Amino acid sequence: MNKDKKVEVGITVKKSEDFSEWYTQVVQKAELADYSSVKGCMIIKPNAYSIWENIQEYLNKKLKKLDVKNAYFPLFIPESFFKKEIEHAKGFKPEVAWISNSEEGERLAIRPTSETVIYDSYSRWIQSYRDLPLKLNQWCNVVRWETKATRLFLRTREFLWQEGHCVYETIEECNRETLMYLEEYRKLCEEFLAIPVLVGRKSEREKFAGALYTTSIEGFMPDGRGLQMGTSHNLGQNFAKAFGIKYLGKDEKEHLPWQNSWGVSTRLIGALVMVHGDDKGMVIPPKIASTKIVIVPIGFEKSEKIVKKAKEIKKDLESFGVILDDRKEYTPGWKFNEWELKGVPLRIEIGPKDLEKNQVVIVRRDNGKKKEVKFTNLKKEVGETLEEIQKNLFEKAKEFLKLNTVKVKNKIEFENAIKDRKLVEATWCNSGECEGLIKDKLGVKSLNIPFEQPKINGKCAYCGKEAGVICRFAKSY
Ligand SMILES: [Zn+2]
Repeated sequence: MNKDKKVEVGITVKKSEDFSEWYTQVVQKAELADYSSVKGCMIIKPNAYSIWENIQEYLNKKLKKLDVKNAYFPLFIPESFFKKEIEHAKGFKPEVAWISNSEEGERLAIRPTSETVIYDSYSRWIQSYRDLPLKLNQWCNVVRWETKATRLFLRTREFLWQEGHCVYETIEECNRETLMYLEEYRKLCEEFLAIPVLVGRKSEREKFAGALYTTSIEGFMPDGRGLQMGTSHNLGQNFAKAFGIKYLGKDEKEHLPWQNSWGVSTRLIGALVMVHGDDKGMVIPPKIASTKIVIVPIGFEKSEKIVKKAKEIKKDLESFGVILDDRKEYTPGWKFNEWELKGVPLRIEIGPKDLEKNQVVIVRRDNGKKKEVKFTNLKKEVGETLEEIQKNLFEKAKEFLKLNTVKVKNKIEFENAIKDRKLVEATWCNSGECEGLIKDKLGVKSLNIPFEQPKINGKCAYCGKEAGVICRFAKSY
């Protein structure tokens, strides 16, 4: 009963009219996540958890090739660890949740990130150059005590992520690999999630607390907000100094190693919804979808032959991840709505007339296009169509990004572009002071500074001082 009601309702607002409400409806009605009775927390439901598992599988494969091993460290961090790296402690102070534990004699932080607890171990494990590089990753939950309104996948007090923590002998190696992990994140987003991202370096003001520098990939969402989708930090020797991580070099002398840390989170699922979803609901890019195809037989109550053929097709397409929806209690129209809402990339319809003609009808979720396909061509056609859907979703998102990027040369252009919810590329002085002014006046932060910079001559578009870089700005999540 309940289910019938849900589809009657469907998504009741348009993406273009009330983005925020649309997002919440898609996340809940496509059964991706739900609010919890525990304030600020979310429940990740199977439809989204399977996406997270696919991200894990993708990254685990890549990391294995890069000699990164998975491990697990405690959820609790003694306050004394937290105080060792001053900038880090300062940066995370407002968001840390504490447990008072008189037995231990000091408070324990619930990890907002694990640099401190991991590097305490590293200081004991690393003795000589033979122990380097040390490259570990952990999949875990982290807690950041948000006070702003909860947004499923985007702002919750607890979320899931992976955090990589590597230690190297030389700064060159550390620099190179910091960028290498960022490049893996770019590929994950663009080639797998079909979301175009902008790579670059964070401003001093926006870098990770305690890092030498932070690199990031930034997405741009359809409501005109930037979304940080992954970061890779070069920590320099700051944490090595604070935690006493030292190694005996080939030269028999003691050295401080170089470190990086890097992560992506379940926030990526929020990005998937925002970028690809439409007025009918979720649209999952084929590569990340566990179920890529749903077969809906039509009029099969009257003909055994149809279900038999549908089962054959299912078996033939098994490798893609396929569901046969032969529930008798729902109409085909009801099923179409449900699978569209959930975002399954491709639908196959087969009815009595199709059976006569040795064909099925395939329907793309991304653009609704239908096509009749003969049984003999089906597997090939399905494979090609899924690839086209993946490509089309990426191209559409790329086009949106391109159309909404505005280069600005002065303060008026800057302010107007932000008002119009554009992604601003500004010639910029790269000063924290100027960035503070921009934030206070327009409520925007810098996203990142592109690695590849043209030759800059001219003034900062905002404050008019000498410009040093091109930097991206936008309202952001
Ligand atoms: Zn400036």
